[in-house]
Amino acid sequence: MSDLPQGLTERELIERLRDRIGRPGEGVVVGIGDDAAVIDEGGPDYLLLTDDAFIDEVHFDLGTWAPRQVGTKAMAATLSDIAAMGGKARTCLVSLMLPRGFETRLLDELYDGLIAAASRYHVSIVGGNVVAGPRLGLCLTATGSVEKAKLCLRSGAEAGHLFAVTGDLGRSEAGRLAASGIVSVDEEAARTARAKHFEPVPRLEEAAALVEAVRVGAMIDISDGLASEVHHIARESNVGARIVAAALPIEEATRTVARAAGVDPVHLALGGGEDFELLLTLSPQVFETALQALAGLGTPVTAIGEVLPREKGVELVGEDGRARPLELAGWDHLTSDR
Ligand SMILES: [Mg+2]
Repeated sequence: MSDLPQGLTERELIERLRDRIGRPGEGVVVGIGDDAAVIDEGGPDYLLLTDDAFIDEVHFDLGTWAPRQVGTKAMAATLSDIAAMGGKARTCLVSLMLPRGFETRLLDELYDGLIAAASRYHVSIVGGNVVAGPRLGLCLTATGSVEKAKLCLRSGAEAGHLFAVTGDLGRSEAGRLAASGIVSVDEEAARTARAKHFEPVPRLEEAAALVEAVRVGAMIDISDGLASEVHHIARESNVGARIVAAALPIEEATRTVARAAGVDPVHLALGGGEDFELLLTLSPQVFETALQALAGLGTPVTAIGEVLPREKGVELVGEDGRARPLELAGWDHLTSDR
């Protein structure tokens, strides 16, 4: 992955493409650069459009993944971007690249995962495409909708807002470590961590409850790691940020795996990625309301810092109480060798 176009970072590549494509046409409210594109077709809702690709030996490994898990995770990751906009997911197209001789049984299992994850969120799989290729690959394109007034963008954060996250952080990366066999932990911790890595849950119900209950400032889903997503919001909203390490919600299973692996659990939370939780900003006055709105779903929401004026920069208050720049520890798809 590290040898993609002349060492461009993912962000540089996206900006280059955005520049080349130029201004979006009529009806395009948000083009390249948020979690999903936003289209105004004239009705009361916006249309949301997003897609995501998953390649064997890059994003998963059929040597260790059950095909059903690949389907579940691909659907969850794709729908997570609809949740990040405050939207409801509607339909999905699935394009497949199949290697020669790919067993029908494995294809059926892959679709068991796709179909189960889609039906859980009332998403219809409505088509796609099949091509032959060197290994298994999937590209999922999802549509969704959101009431115009409830659209959540990365650019909506205001100084004085809180940063908050749903669920817990770092557990997907802990699950990857637990499944790799390089750490040995008790079975319960390993199972709890692995579940998040192999079968993540898109926060669609939480997003719907949040936009119903409060005015959300900015929102993004955590696919590349908290640190990276905080920087995205700061850049797009033209603000600074202070994230407090001691406030990050990290489950005991994640801490257990981190200890066994000799890594700081805060590092897993900041840079692990693929947690598919929601990172949002909201006024402190409505935080309690948001908490109550998600309590009914059994999902915690935790305040982890605050939005600052831009000139304050983006900082992390460590567990030692000292502030330092929040490093971009996130996962860059084009420059990481992982
Ligand atoms: Mg996203």
